Amino acid sequence: MIPFNKPFIVGNELKYIEEAVKSGKISGDGIFTKKCHTFFEEKFGFQKALLTTSCTDALEMAAILCDIQPGDEVIVPSYTFVSSANAFVLRGAKIVFVDSYPDNPNIDPAEIEKHITEKTKVIVPVHYAGVACDMEKIMALAKKHNLFVVEDAAQAIDSYYTFSDGTKKALGSIGDFAAFSFHETKNIICGEGGMLVINNPEYNVRAEIIREKGTNRSAFFRGEVNKYGWVDLGSSFLPSEILSAFLYAQLENLGTIQEKRIRIWKEYYNSLLTLQEKGCITLPDIPAFATNNAHMFYIICRNYEERSNLIQFLKTKEIHPVFHYLSLNKSDFFLKDNSPIDIPNSDHFTDCLLRLPFYYELEEAEQKNINSLIHEYYSLLEK
Ligand SMILES: *Cc1c(COP(=O)(O)O)cnc(C)c1O
Repeated sequence: MIPFNKPFIVGNELKYIEEAVKSGKISGDGIFTKKCHTFFEEKFGFQKALLTTSCTDALEMAAILCDIQPGDEVIVPSYTFVSSANAFVLRGAKIVFVDSYPDNPNIDPAEIEKHITEKTKVIVPVHYAGVACDMEKIMALAKKHNLFVVEDAAQAIDSYYTFSDGTKKALGSIGDFAAFSFHETKNIICGEGGMLVINNPEYNVRAEIIREKGTNRSAFFRGEVNKYGWVDLGSSFLPSEILSAFLYAQLENLGTIQEKRIRIWKEYYNSLLTLQEKGCITLPDIPAFATNNAHMFYIICRNYEERSNLIQFLKTKEIHPVFHYLSLNKSDFFLKDNSPIDIPNSDHFTDCLLRLPFYYELEEAEQKNINSLIHEYYSLLEK
């Protein structure tokens, strides 16, 4: 059986967990959490990194930092994971769904502009498959209309955007805030985990407070105040040292992990290219301003029926691809209080996009098998 995803260990994960336990501190913000923060800040130029228990939590912190009030509007792509929207709904925001490009699941900046109103407060670009949204255009819109930008960078570790003047910046370092995920399905994992990035230092203190249950405990531990108490909104957003220890071991091997994933990605791409040339499927397109972090490999089928049949065909051969993201504007939750809206490109990806098995330990022979079965499916279909 070839699963869709498989968690993995590459280096000192278990050794570091043991070290954390033996150090006598397994609650949050110990040595390993600090090592992770430093790693991210130095490697990717993040002004401040704060580990959280999930990307969802990091998005919820960002919503608090943007000071979302009931009735504020937040622009989110319809083709995304629920958390990109839910984090803002929790604070009373009205979500305004915007479509993807026709040929790329990322949010289309031309569509964003049409949906900006007096009430708009935040734009949430989701870097789908770790491929950058057009951040130059999005940042320009945000500046023009005085909006926050919260990057949903859940899938976007070690991926970059190049501005038209040639400046290259890591995804997550461009918006006001960014949220990453270390869930076991992402490139770098610790089971459940995430990170909030703060790029404007004015928000550093408040972010620490929100993460520590609304208290100034972080400042207290640094000796900046002589007692700590309840000073703001907050919750418990920091992960245990056990998770940070696992995560740090993965970060030490980021280069190895990424090299392997890029090799897997290219193998899929090269092997399936002839099917694209025949018009059977469409392969991912990486815009010139973006890099490829090999977070996932997807194909886009011609229609829903062909995709369903391909899934069935692969399942009979013990291979488990997955599709995802029912357009959020079609969700039960949204339709409870809103009338249906038409977001066609998002629906197209909902119906036709298929993610192939992709994980660090995927073996060459397994991948060859998957590729040849996809070829077989289309040659049977074309007969
Ligand atoms: C995985 C994912 C999330 C949620 O991440 P968690 O760490 O599981 O909370 C949010 N947004 C996107 C785009 C994701 O892919």
